[in-house]
Amino acid sequence: MHVEQRRTRTTNTWHGTREEAAELVEAIQRNCACTYDKSGVRRTLCAAHHMLVDDQRALDGLVFAKRILSSLRLEEWLNAPPSLS
Ligand SMILES: [Zn+2]
Repeated sequence: MHVEQRRTRTTNTWHGTREEAAELVEAIQRNCACTYDKSGVRRTLCAAHHMLVDDQRALDGLVFAKRILSSLRLEEWLNAPPSLS
């Protein structure tokens, strides 16, 4: 997708915390595959950045998954058999 074609503003809203947003931005920066021209202007938008600006459902899913993950880990430890040591 060429960035020049995207003139509309995104209506996505982040429903997580500021810390979660910072973690997401860091993860997207690590996995960014956008392409740039010689002058540094972005020419194509990678999947991660596309999600950030154009996929509200994915953003909401990330917040949900991150939050439920800690609950699931806790539940897993609560149901673990007693240690043999
Ligand atoms: Zn990117």
